[in-house]
Amino acid sequence: MKVFTACPLDCYDACSIISNEDTLQASKDGHTQGFLCPHMNHYEKFETIQKPRYKGEEISLEKALELLKEMLNISEPSAVLHYRGHGNFGLMQAVSDHFFASYGATLTDGNLCDGAGAAGIVQGRGSDKNMPLFEIAKSEVVIIWGRNPHTTSSHLLPLLKDKKIIVIDPLRTKIAKMADLHIQIKPHGDLELAMLMSRFLHIENATDEAYLKEYASGYEEFYELTQSVRIKATLDAIDVTLGEIGKVLELIREKKVAIVCGIGIQKYADGADVMRAIDAFAVYLGLFGKEGCGVAYLGNSKENISSPFFTKAARVSKVNTDFPKFTTVFIQGANPLSQMPDTLRVKESLNTVKNVVYFGLYENETSERADLIIPAKSFLHKEDIRTSYSHNAILPMHRVAVSADGISEYDLSAYLCAAFDINLKSEEEYLNHFRAHGVEKIDGSLYVDGREEIPYSEGFDTDDGEFCFLDAI
Ligand code: SF4
Repeated sequence: MKVFTACPLDCYDACSIISNEDTLQASKDGHTQGFLCPHMNHYEKFETIQKPRYKGEEISLEKALELLKEMLNISEPSAVLHYRGHGNFGLMQAVSDHFFASYGATLTDGNLCDGAGAAGIVQGRGSDKNMPLFEIAKSEVVIIWGRNPHTTSSHLLPLLKDKKIIVIDPLRTKIAKMADLHIQIKPHGDLELAMLMSRFLHIENATDEAYLKEYASGYEEFYELTQSVRIKATLDAIDVTLGEIGKVLELIREKKVAIVCGIGIQKYADGADVMRAIDAFAVYLGLFGKEGCGVAYLGNSKENISSPFFTKAARVSKVNTDFPKFTTVFIQGANPLSQMPDTLRVKESLNTVKNVVYFGLYENETSERADLIIPAKSFLHKEDIRTSYSHNAILPMHRVAVSADGISEYDLSAYLCAAFDINLKSEEEYLNHFRAHGVEKIDGSLYVDGREEIPYSEGFDTDDGEFCFLDAI
């Protein structure tokens, strides 16, 4: 029997999958284009945690849940930290936030992935609406800025056919070898390059003057700021030549241009400014709000999706969490011992926590440290639904099979809510809440209601509708 589901992984492509007699096949329709990547093609080969453990000894699920209840009971509620990652992108993952927030625990804020760049985007545009993946099919030139699509977004590759490709990347990646132009920039030179390219657009009268007057009237002041970047010294420092900048301007002039950014370019203290400067370069070209044009970064997978869960809580930063402040740390779908910066500090600080609970699918550095391990159910064994940060589809994730192993996020939250007398609606009510955000297209696929196919076509989401340029670097 065919069952429709979707890849749960934190990935640009968010593929639709059809489970058919124990095999996972790619949907031929829409963004998935009939193929999956090696992660999903070999999904069954990745061993999952089968049994709960306490202090290294296997225990029953019932015993594990009892122990969890005790670990939560002995603490002041705010001394419990709920640290949730994005190992699974199903929207029902957040049901555990409902329990922990209602209980009075502390939750986390921010993320370890794209947060700096997203902040810069919001500062400039007033919101973080992504250029959907499929718009790139309509572009004439694609600038791939610090992204490696052969590894991280393989469904982008078919869309690049017959386009001029410019790659800006310190590494000679596979896509860089195929590109019409590869600028092998020094790491962390992106802000300066974006500023200089904007400056040369202005010098060469290659900006979209009418667009700037309507949607970005601070463009002259920004040009003055670009003049503070010394040309020769900066080009030498970032290992880019004037000839390369000239070639970029020649390739993009009066073309439909998509700028596809990776996340490595913003993993610096000035990461917000990097993305805002790249956005400014796109604004100079008038790329927003036009078919086949724009900046594709990570976007917000929850754009236009309301939460049915109670999530109001005290929060601490996910980037430099002060674990020793907590008595019980409940880690869900995350591996802070590998993902957080300053691993040694994280290790030492987690070692001081009385109760570390790991709720997830796979063994990792954090499960190795955890006192209590509760296996989660795989996406094949529970109902869920997901959205994407790279396209606008909303994808049902139906249960493919029944498994006795692990516990779903909903069932774990239902157990805890019952134990601590907290209201929780039925799983079906929450799923229906999310399903109601979908609108059906003629081809039968579901899209998130209200998401724009071409964002910013009527200006930006700032107070005055205009792009807000950087005023200092
Ligand atoms: S490309 Fe991404 S979404 Fe698609 S199967 Fe692979 S990991 Fe999953």
